[in-house]
Amino acid sequence: PDTITVQELANRMAEKGADLVKALFKMGMPVTVNQTIDQDTAELLVTEFGHEIKRVSEADVDIRHDEDVDDAAALKSRAPVVTIMGHVDHGKTSLLDALRGANVQAGEAGGITQHIGAYQVKAKDGSAITFLDTPGHEAFTEMRARGANVTDIVILVVAADDGLKPQSIEAINHAKAAGVPIIVAINKIDKDGANPQRVRERLLEHEVIVEEMGGDVQNVEVSALKKQNLDKLLDAIAVQAEIMELKANPDRNAEGTVVEAKLDKGRGPVATILVRRGTLKVGDIFVCGAESGRVRALVNDKGQQIKEAGPSMPVEVLGLGGVPMAGDTLTVVENEARAREVAAYRQSEALKKRTAQAPVSLEGMFSALA
Ligand code: GDP
Ligand code: MG
Repeated sequence: PDTITVQELANRMAEKGADLVKALFKMGMPVTVNQTIDQDTAELLVTEFGHEIKRVSEADVDIRHDEDVDDAAALKSRAPVVTIMGHVDHGKTSLLDALRGANVQAGEAGGITQHIGAYQVKAKDGSAITFLDTPGHEAFTEMRARGANVTDIVILVVAADDGLKPQSIEAINHAKAAGVPIIVAINKIDKDGANPQRVRERLLEHEVIVEEMGGDVQNVEVSALKKQNLDKLLDAIAVQAEIMELKANPDRNAEGTVVEAKLDKGRGPVATILVRRGTLKVGDIFVCGAESGRVRALVNDKGQQIKEAGPSMPVEVLGLGGVPMAGDTLTVVENEARAREVAAYRQSEALKKRTAQAPVSLEGMFSALA
C-alpha cells in the first residue's frame, strides 16, 4: 500500500525519526514514529528536508529470491543436507557424534570439533555430507514453517530393541509432508532383543517400504555405540544423494540459511549459515533477516578460519549487526547502502506487525511528542 511509517521514511532519508515527527507536528499532524503516513505527506516531508524523491515499491526494496533463478549450465553438484530424526533415546545424538567422531579420526588429525549446529563429513568416495546437528522435530518443522526447506534427506533412527514409537511415526509424517526422502537407520543392533526385521515390518504400516520388503527406501542396521556399519550409512546417503542430483551454482553471490544464531560474549553476534548457493567470502556485504553486516571472519565446523564457503557448507559468520533468527536467509548484496536499505525495510515491517497487534496508546503518543 502507499503508506510508510515515519521511522521507515526517516531511515530511508537518513534523518532522525524525532525530527520527522517534529516536522509533521508543525504541519498539523501529531503522529509517532511508528505510525504510518500517506504518500503525499511522505513526499512533502522528503522535499521539506531537501531530499530527492525516488519512488520504490516494496518489491523493489526487499530481495526476491524466487525471481533470481540460476542457469542450468551454471549448476554443479553439491553435498546433501541431512537431518536425523526419531524417537527419544533411540540414539540420534549418539549417531550424530559417532558419524562425526569417526570422520575426525580418519580425517584431519588433531582437528578440534566445534558445535556450530551443523557439520560435514566425507564419505569413502570423497563426497561430502552435511549433517544438521540439531536433531528433533521442532527444529525441522520450525525451519520449514519459516520457509527454509534446507533438509534434502531425513535419517529416521529407530532402536531395534524398541521398535517404532510415536515420535518415529511423527518423523515419518514430517518427512513425507516436506517431500524429503527417508533412509532408515535401525540402531542398537548390538543389544539383546534387537529385532531389525520387526522394524522393517512395522514400517510397512506407515508406507515406508524398505528394499527387503520390495520398496525403494534404504535401511541400514547400525550401532552408534559400537560404531558398527557407519560407513554403510554414509554410503546409503551418498547413493540417495546421487539419485537426487543435488545441484547449486557456486559462482554467484552467496545465499544461505541461518541454522543457529547467538550473541557471543567475545565475538559479538554469530550465526551458523548453511550456504545454499553461491560462495560466501570474507569481506562480503550481506543482509541477513532484518540485520545487515559484512563478513569479518568465517569459521568452519573444525574451528578453523576459512576464506570462503560454497554450497552445502555450514560456516560460522562473524560481522553481523545483530542476532538473526534460525531460518532467516542471508543474501550477499552489492553494497552497504543496499544492505542497510533492505534491513531497515524488514525491521520496519516487523515493527509494523508488532504495533498492529498492540495499538498505540494516547499517552504513548503524547510522550513521543514531548
Ligand atoms: P536420542 O535421545 O535419540 O538423542 O538418544 P541418545 O543418543 O541420547 O541415546 C540414548 C541412549 O541410548 C544412550 O544411553 C546411548 O548410550 C544409548 N545408545 C545409543 N545408541 C546405541 C547403540 O547403538 N547401542 C546401545 N547399546 N546403546 C545405544
Ligand atoms: Mg539427543
